[in-house]
Amino acid sequence: MKNNIFLNAAFDAISQACQVTNEIQADLERIRQLEKNDKSPVTVADFAAQAVVVHVLQQRLGEIRMVGEENSAELRQSEHTNLCSAVLAAVHHVWPEATKEEVLNAIDLGNHDASAEQFWTLDPVDGTKGFLRGGQFAISLALIENGKVKLGVLGCPNLSSDFNQGFDQTDAEGLIYFAVEGEGTWVVSSSQPISHAIKLKVGASDGLIRVCESVEAGHSKHDDTARIVAALGGAGEPVRLDSQCKYAVVARGQADAYLRLPTRADYVEKIWDHAAGMLIAQEAGMIVTDIFGKSLDFTQGAGLKNNRGVICANPRFHHQIIDAIKTLDLT
Ligand code: AMP
Ligand code: MG
Repeated sequence: MKNNIFLNAAFDAISQACQVTNEIQADLERIRQLEKNDKSPVTVADFAAQAVVVHVLQQRLGEIRMVGEENSAELRQSEHTNLCSAVLAAVHHVWPEATKEEVLNAIDLGNHDASAEQFWTLDPVDGTKGFLRGGQFAISLALIENGKVKLGVLGCPNLSSDFNQGFDQTDAEGLIYFAVEGEGTWVVSSSQPISHAIKLKVGASDGLIRVCESVEAGHSKHDDTARIVAALGGAGEPVRLDSQCKYAVVARGQADAYLRLPTRADYVEKIWDHAAGMLIAQEAGMIVTDIFGKSLDFTQGAGLKNNRGVICANPRFHHQIIDAIKTLDLT
């Protein structure tokens, strides 16, 4: 499995992007001052991580098609010179000889429209609010072929291997989770090579249901989560954390379910917010569907147009959650 050239390239791309985001997190205050904008650090991290991932994949695999979240239009504007220099400086930590033009071109390679048979999808900084708080965020990369997620790599730079460490803290090490269709889910410390990765065992689940959800009430309806948990006889507050790290938290058995319950009728989930996380959870034995119990459909371009919300859960609880959603009329 670890001989898979796609996996090795994707792993190295995420590993290098994690180094870049770590450097930026260590320097948040200075980067905020560049444009006197609190969001500058996440902008710099977004662009730098996308440039690095595209560059590594291209170097290792030749021409690639990438559906990414960013393009370089903003960075090319003269009023953002400081931002552009900060992106270049961040990229230089792992790609020392990169020129400005090479970095901008790499970012723009992320603009494929998801129409090809095979393409990559990337969220360079998933969970931007978590990134800015020094909490959880993820760098998420997946390979999709004919509508199937073939592999997923999730860099979780602030996720600790210690289940007792709070999600609102940075971690000195961080973890990389990865999965290949049919071959399981693996985890390794983000400073280690892929050869050190350990396979996750299917998470056993006993006791009352423990769920996790978004920190942002605008991304998932917190009231509905509470009603579902109550219907299943659970108690206590759900755990809240940003980003696709929620899929990893379920995959490793720290929570029994990740609920993403729609807050708006018109919101379409983006493929880069789910492809890698979904495979990581599924290959660890979890079930991932939308709120109706339908599989996530990756044949519809950059959006999950045929789905609503996401329910990722241990098989012991998945059908109970779908039933509760129906009974409580939360669709
Ligand atoms: P999370 O960290 O789980 O809260 O999810 C972050 C992701 O939520 C971002 O990458 C956005 O693409 C996505 N997002 C933005 N608006 C919404 C919305 N109204 N409902 C669900 N997800 C959203
Ligand atoms: Mg995202």
